[in-house]
Amino acid sequence: MTEAERRAALEAIAAEVRACTGCRLHEGRTRAVPGEGHPSTEVVFVGEGPGMNEDREGRPFVGRAGDLLVRLLGSIGWRRDDVFITNIVKCRPPDNRDPEPDEVAACAPFLRRQLEVLDPSLVVTLGRHSMARFMPGTTISRSHGTVRPADPATGAGGALVLAMYHPAAALRTPAVEQASYADISLVPAVLDDARSRRAGGAPAEGRGRAADAPPAPPPPATTDHSAPDPPALDQLTLFR
Ligand code: SF4
Repeated sequence: MTEAERRAALEAIAAEVRACTGCRLHEGRTRAVPGEGHPSTEVVFVGEGPGMNEDREGRPFVGRAGDLLVRLLGSIGWRRDDVFITNIVKCRPPDNRDPEPDEVAACAPFLRRQLEVLDPSLVVTLGRHSMARFMPGTTISRSHGTVRPADPATGAGGALVLAMYHPAAALRTPAVEQASYADISLVPAVLDDARSRRAGGAPAEGRGRAADAPPAPPPPATTDHSAPDPPALDQLTLFR
């Protein structure tokens, strides 16, 4: 698929999302939030659902949580336009409640189709609902910073999945914010592994934090030349 074809396919899905009445969440929405980003990126971030600001603007991760996501991306040298950002449910749950299982199920085909079009190497889940879709049977406190191969049924069959806390949780708790910086510092190496895996090489779960291991410390302010060969950020583009 060319970039233009991907862009058109994503816009067609977005148009369906904006017209969707597939679950009760359409009743309270101001604007649906299909997601946005670079159509040829290799990295997709998946959050839980739109909040008040997202519902107003029709864009994912705006407001304070979005600002923190931008800072997290900036800590590894990336911008939000470099990746694709979307959510498990595309319409705002009332009063920011958790999405119900039937709402998640009703909306799942949109995310699956977006992932089929994008065919990412890496999916980063933000928060426990998003993680549950890609890493069922675990908890966010146990599995943030860990990596698994994506189930092909998610639409991201060629990808690795890295779990992170939701930025809104990081805004509430300094320890979660610190863990989020540590987790996102793993992303370039995991993307490197994901590419090798797609090419038939590296192990699927090589670089993430082991579940139940303490979180890695935040990245050092200066380069540690004794560290094992992380990919050079300025050479690690995200585009096919
Ligand atoms: Fe449709 Fe998803 Fe919105 Fe429900 S949340 S109305 S399934 S787009």
